[in-house]
Amino acid sequence: DHRPGRVARVDRGVCTVLCADGPVRASLGGGLLADAATDLTRLPCAGDWVLVGTWPDGRTTVETVLPRRTALVRRTAGKDASGQVLAANLDAAAVIEPVHPEPDVARIERLLSLVHESGARPLVVLTKADLTDHPEPLARQLAAVAPGVPVLPVSAEHGTGLDPLRAEVAPGRTLGLLGPSGAGKSSLVNALAGALVMPTQAIRRVDGKGRHTTTWRALVPVPGGGAVVDTPGVRAVGLLDGSTGLDQAFADIAELAVDCRYADCAHDGEPGCAVREALETGELTTRRWESWRRLQREVAYESRRREARV
Ligand code: GDP
Ligand code: ZN
Repeated sequence: DHRPGRVARVDRGVCTVLCADGPVRASLGGGLLADAATDLTRLPCAGDWVLVGTWPDGRTTVETVLPRRTALVRRTAGKDASGQVLAANLDAAAVIEPVHPEPDVARIERLLSLVHESGARPLVVLTKADLTDHPEPLARQLAAVAPGVPVLPVSAEHGTGLDPLRAEVAPGRTLGLLGPSGAGKSSLVNALAGALVMPTQAIRRVDGKGRHTTTWRALVPVPGGGAVVDTPGVRAVGLLDGSTGLDQAFADIAELAVDCRYADCAHDGEPGCAVREALETGELTTRRWESWRRLQREVAYESRRREARV
């Protein structure tokens, strides 16, 4: 007797699964545990659609993780690490950075690579827009590090700029939030849900833990709509295999490279290099160029390591 549900939270091997008749708590079935022994991505995570079974002795277990449409996967340590899924089945995923203190551009680039790789529609959300007099120029400035991606200033405090995000949690749609602790993710979840469903930092501090613990969900259904998934405190994550994600996040550089004289240009001083030219004119900043190279090295190392394993 198996029934479908959606994982709202996973805490030390116990899943909270939202089923048609309400939330149930379920441990991991034996088959899943066996799969996960060699591949961590087989473990259920927030946003997963699963089948749960209830046994004659009363235990409820997650038996199957249904195929994921999209998955945010980060690199894990260890030599047979397969990566860890942070959230699944997101239609859109927003990289969250506060306008104050200054947004961390390198973190935006890294997390956008992850989102591109996941298959979800990428967004950048600049939170706490009420803390600056100039949210729009800042958004335009950051558009240069997020080619083709909407950059949306919002204030959960003032309730401004939320409409484009409401569209992402329309019925049947799931929006994920990705960013460091303190960026205003819980406040954003509350603003979208129209209720205090997530304790914000101030409340978490009062409870003495100051971190996400056992009392709330990562996936929150939005009344009359879809759902929003908070991935708690993702500060910086290792890229698993950014081959497509990285190129998409740095589409501006890929576009420049098309005009290099040699197809195999390493952009390292070759004649007729369009990337060098863009660096000289300032069209491409040295900072972004180096950020791209750093992430590329990281990803190349990762692919070599994986090949060495097979
Ligand atoms: P999280 O750790 O990413 O979930 O961040 P929280 O939602 O807990 O917010 C961290 C802090 O920023 C809290 O003290 C919030 O009150 C504050 N904050 C969140 N959103 C806003 C906003 O739109 N404007 C201002 N001024 N402060 C905000
Ligand atoms: Zn070149």
